[in-house]
Amino acid sequence: MPTVVKKSEIRKSYLLDKYVIITPGRALRPRDINEHTIIERTAKCPFCPENINPAAEKIVDEIKDRHGWQVLCMKNIYPAVTLDNDRAYGTQEVIVETRSHSKELANLEEGQIEKVLRLYARRTEVLSANEKINYILCFKNQGSKAGASIVHAHSQIFATDIIPPEVHEELGLAQSYRIKHKICPYCDIIKQEMKSERKIYEDDFTAAFAPYASEYHYEVWIFIKRHVDNITRLNADEFASFAHALKKILLKLHALGMSFNYFLHQVVPDRDQHFYLKIQPRDSIWAGVELGSGLVINSVPPEAAAKYYRE
Ligand SMILES: [Zn+2]
Ligand SMILES: [Zn+2]
Repeated sequence: MPTVVKKSEIRKSYLLDKYVIITPGRALRPRDINEHTIIERTAKCPFCPENINPAAEKIVDEIKDRHGWQVLCMKNIYPAVTLDNDRAYGTQEVIVETRSHSKELANLEEGQIEKVLRLYARRTEVLSANEKINYILCFKNQGSKAGASIVHAHSQIFATDIIPPEVHEELGLAQSYRIKHKICPYCDIIKQEMKSERKIYEDDFTAAFAPYASEYHYEVWIFIKRHVDNITRLNADEFASFAHALKKILLKLHALGMSFNYFLHQVVPDRDQHFYLKIQPRDSIWAGVELGSGLVINSVPPEAAAKYYRE
């Protein structure tokens, strides 16, 4: 029986001590939303093939076929952290997801999305060989509200020696859970959510759901079902399945016209975590309650969001 949220309820995150107030509401319909990403062709887009010199030293990696590069990785030219600075140590790279200036990731063919994921994996492998790097964040900002400044489809990699406090806390809580319950918390959560109304997608390899205490409207977590700790461990079936699920979900988000961020959850020194991708759409505006109390109000219950994605 569907349990529709009729009264507001406070929900706690699976592991972290974070709380969300889920208020009764319904999924927004595409026509209710009017944020548009404006695609303009600028003469000097730095990610268009004609403006990239393939021999330039800022190119660090690529996946190519006989037509040239298909996915490209370059050094970020304005990095906040660098490998020659011990006071802000790390490296930043940009992944150009397609040669086409005007296609969003959601509109690329699954095979092309898979290539993007494979380049995340390859960069993760290369960067984690550096013993000083402890944390590698592969992420994407799409749309103006998500902080994207260039329309040409791209994602970024931020690698540093510091494990962010919230990630560190989550690793500790996951470890305590494993000791107590003899199972990885996320393996457990996936099983439960695949039986819940928050389920969005499932096949043999991938599971996606709207998290119980979603902080953002239409938030989605996509997991590889097998207990693998980072993207470099995915096999061919898992890459293909993950690309399929990601495309399906991004197309639904695209129909809502929402800006979004996504992040891969992976920490280099912890081999016993569970890899996943978090999509956080940037539709809700955090105001007094959120900024003052840290409590988040979400008026699109995850059950309603999941229903929208499943339809
Ligand atoms: Zn371009
Ligand atoms: Zn697991």
